[in-house]
Parts: sequence; structure tokens; C-alpha cells
Amino acid sequence: MQTTKKQTKRLFEKFASITFVIVLLLLAAVGCSSSEENKTKQESSKRPIIVQGPMPIEAEKFADKLENVKEEKSGIYEFYIGTINNYPVIVSKTSKGMENTAAATAVAIERYNPIAIINQGTSGGHDPKLHVFDIVLGKRSVNIGSLKTGNRGENEGIAPTEWIPMDLMASEGSAGEDPDAENIRYYKGDKDLLEAANAVKDKYTKGKVVEGTIGSADVWNNEVDRIKWFHNKYGTSVEEMETASAAQISKAYDIPFLGIRILSNNKTNGGEYNPDTATANQKYVYEVVKKYISTLPTK
Ligand code: SAH
Repeated sequence: MQTTKKQTKRLFEKFASITFVIVLLLLAAVGCSSSEENKTKQESSKRPIIVQGPMPIEAEKFADKLENVKEEKSGIYEFYIGTINNYPVIVSKTSKGMENTAAATAVAIERYNPIAIINQGTSGGHDPKLHVFDIVLGKRSVNIGSLKTGNRGENEGIAPTEWIPMDLMASEGSAGEDPDAENIRYYKGDKDLLEAANAVKDKYTKGKVVEGTIGSADVWNNEVDRIKWFHNKYGTSVEEMETASAAQISKAYDIPFLGIRILSNNKTNGGEYNPDTATANQKYVYEVVKKYISTLPTK
């Protein structure tokens, strides 16, 4: 009887100590995994910088510069997710034009919660003082396809120089009736991004880097008088098909934004289209991104 009691006691003690060890091990495991979690949370709490480019030649050179790249796709919108100097950077190939860019920008913001967005690529000069390989930092951008025509009856012809700028963001009322909508809507480039871009200007040697106005629309203007009209009325330095769209969506979500566009052609001074400009711009934007990362808080 005595021995069975003793045996039971010993057995119980053994069981208790094993349980204790198991509990300790479990606690340690939980502790470990939660610190693992914290680590990944900390990593992903760094909000990525998004660099957009419309065409393969305008995005892929930049994607090559990323480390630890993985690709994701949503519809036709491709994202190359990687790092530069250990900071998360996502290259987004938006495809051409205003609609693709708006969609790619909204998808990027919803999916990746970016700290900033840069839209970069080629453009056509509106300013005769700018030449192929010069770069324009978008101090502001504007949709130059958002217009209201004058009133003309049948057989009274068309008169594009009478067309009035139309601000689609002016009110929730009719843009056709609201006189407040007859304004040019400029989207401002972010101050800190502009500062980073200006700070590395000297690293670019193939042309000059200037601040200016980027005009965007799903139109390629080859009429010099029409280009002049935009240059005088809107102050455009260059035209292309994406920046104002990405700027509009970035503003809707309050995300810092900057357009950076190299001249690949300039009809106003005979500058022939040169596709090599796309790579040159990406090299410069890479410097801008590194500079911008260096200004961000490390935690
Ligand atoms: N070259 C093509 C047109 C599409 S390329 C063709 O002739 O079929 C359009 C792309 O180049 C857009 O992504 C746009 O942002 C950029 N681009 C460069 N120069 C431009 C210009 N002068 N006008 C409009 N877009 C221009």
C-alpha cells in the first residue's frame, strides 16, 4: 500500500515537472514567434516608395536596380517589389495613358500604402528652351485634355483656341454649368520630393534639370501652334500622358507625389524622338529615390 502511494507520488511529481517544462517551452515559443511577428511588422511598417513608369522601357531599367525583387500583378498592372538600401521600393509598370495610370495608382495605394509616389518617363517639349535629354521636375502638373468647347451651332465650325479649361474636381455639380469649373486645376509636386530631386541635380550630366509644369492628356500633340497655345495658357514645359492622372489620384488619397519627366522629343525646336532618354531618366530618378530614402526617419 505504502509503496503504491509513494510510486503514485513520484509519478505525479514526474508528471508535474514534465508539464512545467512543456509550459516553459510553450511560453518560450510564443515569445519567439511574437518577437518574429514584431520584426516583420516593423519591416512592413516602413511604407514603400512607388516609382511608376508607363512603358517597359520606362519601368524595367529601374526594376533591375531593385534588390530582393518579387513580382505581383493586378489586372495588367505589374509591380516589382524590392528594396533599395534596405528600404522598400516598388516599381509599377502602369501602361500608357491617363486611365491606366489612374487605375494603377489607386491599386498601388490600396495594396501597398506608399509613403510617396514618383511618376517618371518620357515627354515632348512645349518649351523651346528645353532640349531632348533635359529633365523637368513637376513643380505642378495639369490635365490638358480636360476642356469645355465654346457654343457653336451647325456649320459654325470648330475653334480649339476658344476652348476653356475644365476643372473636374471643382464641385460635385455639373462641370458644364458651374462657372467655378472653368479654371485650370494644377496638382502641386511634393516639397520634400522636389527637395530630394534638386539635391542630386548635379549627378545628371546629359542635360539640365529644371522645375516646371507637366501637362498630361491621352493626346500626342504635333501641331506647333497648339503646343504654343498650351505653353502660353497653361505654362506647360512638357506634355505626356500620365503624370496629372497619378497626381490627381495621389491627391485624392493625400499621398506625396512628384512627376519627373525627361524630354524624348521637342517639336518646338526640332528635337527628334530618342528612346534612350527613358534609361537616362531612370538613372537620375534612382539617385532621387536614394536621396529621398536618406531623408526619411530610420524607425
Ligand atoms: N509613340 C507612340 C505613341 C505612344 S507613346 C506612337 O506614335 O504610337 C506615348 C508615351 O510616350 C506616353 O506614355 C507618353 O507619356 C510619352 N510621350 C513622350 N512624348 C510625348 C509627346 N510628345 N506627347 C505625348 N506623350 C508623349
